[in-house]
Amino acid sequence: MTGTRTGRRGSTTAWADIDLHALGRNLERLRRGLPPGQAVLGVVKADAYGHGAGPVGRALQRFGVDGLAVADMGEGITLRRAGVTAPILVIDPPLSSQLRLPALHRLGATVTSLIEARALATAANRAGRTVDVHVRVNTGFAGFGAPQADLTDLLAAVASAPTLRLEGLYTHLSGAYGPYEDGGLAELERFGEAVDVARAAGLLPPLVHALSSPALGRPLLTAAAARIGCTAVRCGAALFGIRMVDGESPLPLAPVMSLKARVTRVTALEPGDVADYAAASAAPRRIPVAVLPFGFSDGHHLHRLAGGVLLIRGRPAPILARPFMSGLLADLTDIPGVQPGDEAVLIGRQGDHRITVEDIAARSGLRPSAVPLLGPRVVRRYRTGATGEEQPE
Ligand SMILES: *Cc1c(COP(=O)(O)O)cnc(C)c1O
Repeated sequence: MTGTRTGRRGSTTAWADIDLHALGRNLERLRRGLPPGQAVLGVVKADAYGHGAGPVGRALQRFGVDGLAVADMGEGITLRRAGVTAPILVIDPPLSSQLRLPALHRLGATVTSLIEARALATAANRAGRTVDVHVRVNTGFAGFGAPQADLTDLLAAVASAPTLRLEGLYTHLSGAYGPYEDGGLAELERFGEAVDVARAAGLLPPLVHALSSPALGRPLLTAAAARIGCTAVRCGAALFGIRMVDGESPLPLAPVMSLKARVTRVTALEPGDVADYAAASAAPRRIPVAVLPFGFSDGHHLHRLAGGVLLIRGRPAPILARPFMSGLLADLTDIPGVQPGDEAVLIGRQGDHRITVEDIAARSGLRPSAVPLLGPRVVRRYRTGATGEEQPE
């Protein structure tokens, strides 16, 4: 079964294939790599890392994810409007102008201070609804979360408010994004102290979570998290098959997105012609080129990708000079016979070659999760069947 969501079939010249079957398998494999009983919250902020929040959120729900997480209220509302009924945690605490929204849209709210907790309780009371609350505690990352010293009072305030339900306690580990096997362990130990404080006060909520994607393939961290009482993980990148740290994970995760465009023109630079707006790009010889309708407004990583490659006719074609806003030139010197309409692959597999998000990140100096963030012109096509698209195992 193949599903497409483009209403402009014939006009599509650049598109992302989103393999929802691979997404489901990734979720399953992540689960298998975790100690038993851990809940998985799928992080789908930033439009599901460019994969499309609505379709991805609905698919994860179908695959049995325990909940979803987004950065802000607007993203949570978008998911509800897309028909997602699973629990949704909003990571940013509500601004005073947003206090009604968790009750109105059944969104789980993060609180990090007594002021936020009280204001949220008042708003929930007015709305006549109960709101799920996760308390975020700071363990040393960017000042996000409540100071450890405030934790007991904050948990007590949430637990005693009749319109708030204390659902979670969490933190986010920066060290896990570093190259070291035990990165994040010191932060996790600080979180363990917070968990002990909550337990001692009789205020330990059901969902206790700290680990995110890069930690999930590291037994040192997953075992330590289970030991201190974690009951859930939050993961975004790993669900999409994106590795945030080099050589990070023994988990066999498959990329979910491939990115394609059709050659719109085949032409040539004559000696002295420039390939972008810089004289330095003047062609030293005749260079046959393909024009691709994919520029830095379609994928901002392209802005940094001079010297990168894409695949045409199963062969790597170097990107010539710097891409334009809405297009790029690919060098066809080694690829004869290219025709307008031929399919080029910017991320994914063609013939014996494969271009990964991680390759592009390494070349462009971006974080891997930034690479699939695409511009509005790029259509997404959703494939749901096991045979929808050839996938590397
Ligand atoms: C973005 C985010 C995540 C997900 O991180 P991944 O590395 O994509 O798994 C988890 N927790 C918080 C608080 C986040 O902001």
